Amino acid sequence: MDIHEYQAKEILSRFNVEVPKGALAYSPEQAAYRTHELGGDKWIVKAQVHAGGRGKAGGVKLCQSQDEVYDACNDMFGRKLVTHQTGPQGKGIYRVYVESAVQIDHEIYLGFVLDRSSQRVMIVASTEGGMEIEEISADRPESIVRSTVEPAVGLQEFQAREIAFNLGIEPGLVQHMVRTLQGCYRAFLEFDATMVEINPLVVTGDNRVVALDAKMSFDDNALFRHPQISELRDKSQEDPRESRAADRGLSYVGLDGNIGCIVNGAGLAMATMDTIKLAGGAPANFLDIGGGASPERVAKAFRLVLSDDNVQAVLVNIFAGINRCDWVAEGVVLALKSLQLDIPVVVRLAGTNVEEGQKILAKSGLPIIRATSLMEAAERAVGAWQNDLVQATKMRAAL
Ligand code: GDP
Ligand code: MN
Repeated sequence: MDIHEYQAKEILSRFNVEVPKGALAYSPEQAAYRTHELGGDKWIVKAQVHAGGRGKAGGVKLCQSQDEVYDACNDMFGRKLVTHQTGPQGKGIYRVYVESAVQIDHEIYLGFVLDRSSQRVMIVASTEGGMEIEEISADRPESIVRSTVEPAVGLQEFQAREIAFNLGIEPGLVQHMVRTLQGCYRAFLEFDATMVEINPLVVTGDNRVVALDAKMSFDDNALFRHPQISELRDKSQEDPRESRAADRGLSYVGLDGNIGCIVNGAGLAMATMDTIKLAGGAPANFLDIGGGASPERVAKAFRLVLSDDNVQAVLVNIFAGINRCDWVAEGVVLALKSLQLDIPVVVRLAGTNVEEGQKILAKSGLPIIRATSLMEAAERAVGAWQNDLVQATKMRAAL
């Protein structure tokens, strides 16, 4: 789960990370009023969306008067911000954060990520702050400092000092940098984060180390033990298809194609998507119903896939080990009977209780297209989808 910049800053500041003075606003009027509370004469207005790259997309504005703050916000509120991380549909701006501007001397990139191969938290830092880490690793790979933390002892001072020296931090600021690094590490650990990114972390003109931006992501599987984090969830920033699925305990990833996939197991889901591509189609989603799925769960998955308007054909591909083909078949029948369906559905079952499953599908009297192999299933799904398209075009032409 992701949270907003202002929320991440609030958390990090509790762990001794210095952040600029700032205040949240839900309207241009409130944002303008915030300038009084903050004082000073320069402010940064920042769109709060769950994506980076806001600066280049017009989501971060430097303002020198209350009117400029008002105008900047007036332009942002209710608009979709499209950055290179949001996809073409963008993310809605419903909150802005107003901050006292900071005078930047230089910018540093600082990230904490989970490195799966070493099974440790890895610190990634660079003197080339402000650029995205992908750009830094392409253009200035030699500027990147990496350091893994030994979990038994945590981030030690000497290790944090070494990172600070490698970043060329002036001696008088090393202690401040150490405090910042250790604070981020403790926040990461305390809340089961999967990522903490401060880009840029800046050294200011008046010699302070300040987090100008902050991003945190959390392990969804650990949210149950952090209610103070899970309450920060903002569904307006999520793909509605994915939040609906998450609320129903299904793992679902929305994609851009037209063939809905209902599959068990992530590996089989990947293979199914590849095979659809091979057959000339494109998957509309990745949905894994998991092991031991009851008919109700299958029906739920079906409703979810069908609620996506892009879906013009459905492919159910089950290789039942722990699952049972008869339960899956019952789920498919249950869903199709309760829904008005006007798109082709292809079902391929293999494994435990496959004969019973086939019988249930055959007896249902529903127009389900059955297939034996995965290739056949994908070809039939793509074929039926293309055929439907041709029919629809003909109908439109005839009108
Ligand atoms: P992002 O584009 O979504 O990563 O948003 P950031 O919060 O990183 O802001 C983008 C850029 O705006 C930063 O890299 C800074 O260069 C600049 N910026 C943000 N806050 C301030 C500030 O207080 N003072 C100055 N001078 N620049 C700022
Ligand atoms: Mn940034």
